[in-house]
Amino acid sequence: MLKTVLKGKLTMKSVYRAGTCMRRFHGGVVLGSTNTSQFIKQVSEPFTVTTYARPELIIERGQGSYLYDYEGKEYVDFMSGIAVTCLGHSNPEVTDILTKQAQKLIHSSNLYYNRPAGDLAAKLVELTKASGGMADALRVFLCNSGTEANEAALKFARKYGKTKNPEKYEIITFKNSFHGRTMGALSVTPNPKYQEPFAPLIQGVNVAEAGNIDSVKTLISKDKTCAVIIEPIQGEGGVNSVDPEFLVALKQLCVDNDVMLIYDEIQCGLGRSGKLWAHGFLPAEAHPDILTMAKALGNGFPIGAVMISEKVENALSVGDHGTTYGGNPLGSAIGSYVVDQVSNSDFLASVGEKSNKFLTRFSQIADKYPNKVSAVKGKGLLIGLQMVDEVDAGSVASLARDNGLLVITAGMNVVRVVPALNIPDEAIEKGLDILEQAIAAVPFKQ
Ligand SMILES: *Cc1c(COP(=O)(O)O)cnc(C)c1O
Repeated sequence: MLKTVLKGKLTMKSVYRAGTCMRRFHGGVVLGSTNTSQFIKQVSEPFTVTTYARPELIIERGQGSYLYDYEGKEYVDFMSGIAVTCLGHSNPEVTDILTKQAQKLIHSSNLYYNRPAGDLAAKLVELTKASGGMADALRVFLCNSGTEANEAALKFARKYGKTKNPEKYEIITFKNSFHGRTMGALSVTPNPKYQEPFAPLIQGVNVAEAGNIDSVKTLISKDKTCAVIIEPIQGEGGVNSVDPEFLVALKQLCVDNDVMLIYDEIQCGLGRSGKLWAHGFLPAEAHPDILTMAKALGNGFPIGAVMISEKVENALSVGDHGTTYGGNPLGSAIGSYVVDQVSNSDFLASVGEKSNKFLTRFSQIADKYPNKVSAVKGKGLLIGLQMVDEVDAGSVASLARDNGLLVITAGMNVVRVVPALNIPDEAIEKGLDILEQAIAAVPFKQ
């Protein structure tokens, strides 16, 4: 039995050679007591759906902006689980809230209101307005992830469009954007690598170019378009800040055509830009009708949210959308704490200071290695180094990892850095030294 389960690469022999004692249960196996990175990868891989290529590093625990693998090796964390753990790993307050709420109530369903969800929704609306963000913010729908937040946003915008005219269902999205992997969110993520295997996608999606208002003008119409969806700073697509003047013009086009403007701030929001919202840098005339958020909202606990204006709220009725887990007391209690922290003005000022440390050093690195780095990109603590074509950003990331620093890459050959927003200065220095060494050492492509 064990042999049939562990077919192929992993035989009984190799498992025992790896020094484990795997146990049988109900005809299956569980991992034994051996805990080495190599072994965990070896045992996990045959049972895990092939959707990621993962290195041998397995993280056992994290503390603040440091991570530790099973061999006890320390890594400076410049990626915070892809812009998620904004207050650091094992944050004591988050752990305390999580523990206390878990002892009280984890889940009660959306058939009833619950206190933590009500608190979080109210807080999001009030603090967003107080921060100079989304002037028309009115109500919040809580869900469990970024892709779900965008899914809800697209449905809400379609419902709004259809209350005007049944043909008003088209959506405009942008090149190099990323909005998620479910069918709706994927349909507005125009990356052939992600889309093609799953076509046909939803109807009525048109792709414009961020920064090019004419490309939107040719696609938008009052009769057919219900929504425009855009990230104010494109994260996955290459850490591309969208020109503020373009966003002002975009919103005006939306107003003229009665189109709902959706800002996806799943990556760039919640303090990462140096303000609560990246669109908080824009005048109110460029604020969205719908705002989506996730990632940092739970500091690692899965949660997402959509904030909408009165116009959108008026188009919705009971039964239009739902979720079993969304707005559960546990996630909401954590979300409330995170939102309190990341909207605090002292906290945001320190994000700005940390950002300057990164940006100063990044431009020094760019000056020192002009044959490898062509630009410094991004804002706040969502920043990137554009590598030239002859150098692979992925190789920089793996060299850095070997030397004890975790960074990620983004589209267009960018080394992306999205650390915890409270990363200590000492971790910044240490990580930047490792990153510079990796850039110095990275070979040119053959
Ligand atoms: C990560 C991300 C998403 C998808 O979020 P998930 O929680 O992975 O579903 C959507 N939009 C942007 C901008 C993101 O960065």
